[in-house]
Amino acid sequence: MTAQLIKGAEVAKQIREELAAEIAELKAKHNVVPGLVTVLVGADPASQVYVGAKEKTSQELGIYSERHDIPTETTQSELLALIDKLNKDPKINGILVQLPLPKHLNETEVLYAIDPKKDVDGFHPVNVGKLMIGEPDYIPCTPHGIWQLLIRSGVQIEGAEVVVVGRSNIVGKPIANILLQKQKNANATVTVCHTRTRDMAFHTRRADIVIAAVGKAKAITADMVKEGVVVIDVGVNEIGKTADGKRILAGDVDFEAVKEKASAITPVPGGVGPMTITMLMMNTVRAAKLAAGLA
Ligand code: NAP
Repeated sequence: MTAQLIKGAEVAKQIREELAAEIAELKAKHNVVPGLVTVLVGADPASQVYVGAKEKTSQELGIYSERHDIPTETTQSELLALIDKLNKDPKINGILVQLPLPKHLNETEVLYAIDPKKDVDGFHPVNVGKLMIGEPDYIPCTPHGIWQLLIRSGVQIEGAEVVVVGRSNIVGKPIANILLQKQKNANATVTVCHTRTRDMAFHTRRADIVIAAVGKAKAITADMVKEGVVVIDVGVNEIGKTADGKRILAGDVDFEAVKEKASAITPVPGGVGPMTITMLMMNTVRAAKLAAGLA
């Protein structure tokens, strides 16, 4: 069996078209323009690329976009004052502080200072708690993207054995939480593996769906999965550089071997990656609708 490719770039494009139409309608019917602000502390090149991509996508979709690039030396109290100002700004529905922050800043305190209603990353404990009890306002972007990929690819989630490898707060735990909720497109039986799991292959071999969020190239090999499995590869690992200095990326799954056993699989790049920014846009639109009493 050679797997069907789950093409994140195509699904993301489709969702963006839907969002652009929704944003145009919000403006025409309700005079509501969703607003997203990004805050970048320092000049980390990778962070600049991510923030630039978020700004560009916002503008393409008709989202009001603001960008605050502030110096590395910014103090904790200066950053908290900026967040306080953005919390009170009615033009802004979503606040995104690009991580990681410089080491002298307290990341947790900064994330907790964002008004949960504007926390479009879904990292504030209020939003984490709401997700846990099955009443989310915002689902964190990468797990939200994974969920949409599964749904829109027609994967049977209800009743499926799902094994998530990785238990981070931004990917592993939230996707496990989403898929075990008692609701449509969820209702899965979910197992979460991590570095202290005794026999990981025992779990992955009986999975109908494997979600790999490990951060290690080829952590999931063909002998660890069953025929017909659906594989979502979240990993982004640099495994080398091309002659002209470009990064060579690989996922957490041994793609070439696993695709011969899987019924469907996401590639890296072009799988989960393109979904993440798109789901940030979806959360921003939801924040604007919630603020306007339209959701
Ligand atoms: P993370 O915080 O480093 O967490 C990795 C998890 O994997 C941990 O729970 C760790 O277990 C577990 N793990 C590591 N090695 C393992 C092993 N050999 N066996 C079993 N479990 C193991 O990483 P993350 O932030 O969740 O990200 C995971 C991957 O996804 C990374 O490659 C990251 O770059 C990528 N990512 C991609 C996107 C995207 O948009 N495409 C977004 C976010 C992340 P312990 O808890 O026991 O340490």
